[in-house]
Amino acid sequence: MPWINYHSHSLYCDGKASPEEFIRQAIAEGFPAYGYSSHAPVPFASKWNMAADKLAEYLAEIGRIKKAYGDKIQVYAGLEIDYIEGIRGRRFSGPDNISLDFAIGSVHYIGQFPDQSYFCFDGQPEAFFNGIELLYRNDFRKAITAYFQSVMHMTEFDQPDIIGHLDKIKMHNSTRAYLDESEKWYTDLVEETLEIILQQDCIVEVNTRGLYKHNPPMLYPGISILKRIFQKNIPIILNSDAHQPGELSLGFSHAAELLLDIGFRSFRVLLDDRWQDIAFDQKGLLI
Ligand SMILES: [Zn+2]
Ligand SMILES: [Zn+2]
Repeated sequence: MPWINYHSHSLYCDGKASPEEFIRQAIAEGFPAYGYSSHAPVPFASKWNMAADKLAEYLAEIGRIKKAYGDKIQVYAGLEIDYIEGIRGRRFSGPDNISLDFAIGSVHYIGQFPDQSYFCFDGQPEAFFNGIELLYRNDFRKAITAYFQSVMHMTEFDQPDIIGHLDKIKMHNSTRAYLDESEKWYTDLVEETLEIILQQDCIVEVNTRGLYKHNPPMLYPGISILKRIFQKNIPIILNSDAHQPGELSLGFSHAAELLLDIGFRSFRVLLDDRWQDIAFDQKGLLI
């Protein structure tokens, strides 16, 4: 049974292979559909976001792939769009008239240093802890709250189709524990965020990148949050956040087993040009 993936990067941002190599892998794995989601440009220097002048070429290349492989697989053009306080998300990430099939909204930046550069927490642990010290005086609760507030603002203002790696701010917790996910202030913060996601009718991404890249393995969002998502009947989608073709479905079977245990039975996926709920088991989508 096939999988589907709508979160992957390529040479247009910080991925390690061309869009063509990714689609060939998706076809080889029997995917019925595939979504590209390079990091959208941001209005400042960034090592991993797409350069603004590459956006038109990126969309044209996906258009070419749609024509070349459309008889074998459905191809969708998306972007992973940063929401950054003070800059906003979708409307500042490129020309307003770009036409996307879907958008993933993600928060990777939580503050601005005195030299005006933006603090990206999604890097090496050392840079993360230095940033928290400089910008938040080691008040992790304040930093985590700022992160989730950005996710809430993004959801309200941009209404992305998919909310990317919802609790990614926990990613350095195994290096040095700064978050106890059972504390009430945190569960309340998550609850408030989920309530807004529910109101705005967005899909929460279950992102497996932490399962195959992180030691110890880490699923975004974690099990306790996924249980709340299930109780609230918020739709989910399974993505791997692949940076190379071999990562397209990594961690999917393991994640699917965890999701089935919680009670989930379907993913909301973009298929035949519309979002629809498709049942799954640990081996793939039941289509
Ligand atoms: Zn991301
Ligand atoms: Zn990503």
